[in-house]
Amino acid sequence: LSGSLSDKNVYDWSSEEEEPDGRARPVQVLLVKDDHTFELDEAALSRILLAEEVRDREVVAISVAGAFRKGKSFLMDFMLRYMYNHASEQWLGDAEEPLTGFSWRGGSERETTGIQIWSEVFLVDKPDGRKVAVLLMDTQGTFDSQSTLRDSATVFALSTMISSMQVYNISQNVQEDDLQHLQLFTEYGRLAMEETFLKPFQSMIFLVRDWSFPYEFPYGQEGGMKFLEKRLKVKNQHEELQNVRKHIHSCFTNISCFLMPHPGLKVATNPHFDGRIKEIDGEFINNLKILVPWLLSPRNIDVKEINGSKITCRGLVEYFKAYIKIYQG
Ligand code: GDP
Ligand code: MG
Repeated sequence: LSGSLSDKNVYDWSSEEEEPDGRARPVQVLLVKDDHTFELDEAALSRILLAEEVRDREVVAISVAGAFRKGKSFLMDFMLRYMYNHASEQWLGDAEEPLTGFSWRGGSERETTGIQIWSEVFLVDKPDGRKVAVLLMDTQGTFDSQSTLRDSATVFALSTMISSMQVYNISQNVQEDDLQHLQLFTEYGRLAMEETFLKPFQSMIFLVRDWSFPYEFPYGQEGGMKFLEKRLKVKNQHEELQNVRKHIHSCFTNISCFLMPHPGLKVATNPHFDGRIKEIDGEFINNLKILVPWLLSPRNIDVKEINGSKITCRGLVEYFKAYIKIYQG
């Protein structure tokens, strides 16, 4: 098994930001500053997406979004492990191997609102013989005041427009808040769509962490779908709640949901926990083994489409820049 990230960097880094050891790493491409302006690191984005091996490949853009400290990076590190182990049966690797990737970088410690992408874009062979480029994005917001909610909404909208799959990482349940945030996010996205006449929303996955009612709705995707159907059903609610639901339904081509169990106390509370599987609850691991291939297997990944056309890495850079302009204006 080759689980290590160290020898995998395929790019020739020539920037000052180059890591001394040349390793792949998370790169902050979009930053929301204290004065609520957006800063796009075009150079970094281009360095990653315009690398010769990937720029003309159709792109699968997978984003994980949501509030801080809810286990996004932890999940993304397992996604990285799956990618680096080439979707093999044994992708989870050694039970004692510490988890590396997004979570180990200083940048992810700071509570910045923005978008980070993994510096290595993965080339994957789809079963139909096409080779596609897979980009992983970590999108974070703060959601704690009116002004940061607006920033977070913009970031969420952007990442939803840029991605072919948006994983909305939420804690414990799908609360009315989560849905209202989502409506706000997608409204920001629509704003951009109207200006550009593009229809960019593809798949939305509600990923509920620490789900604690498996006897009502079992862990996993089927339980998740049943739960979500019930949660999103437009009933005789207050008009505002109905609108939130209708709006969400009208924004995405695919909506699904996955219920994840709690990973155990070591993960949630031990400051010395280093991510080794041995110390994670078995139930969580069992579901991780279902979740990650469900999201990322070569069979399941979808190329980013805008207005019905498939987008390459090069195209994605252009859209990124165009969308940013809308929010900067
Ligand atoms: P992020 O800010 O959303 O990227 O969150 P992190 O991945 O950095 O995780 C924040 C904390 O939550 C860490 O201490 C993790 O060990 C812990 N954690 C990771 N996954 C889960 C989970 O599914 N449930 C709980 N309760 N804690 C988790
Ligand atoms: Mg994080």
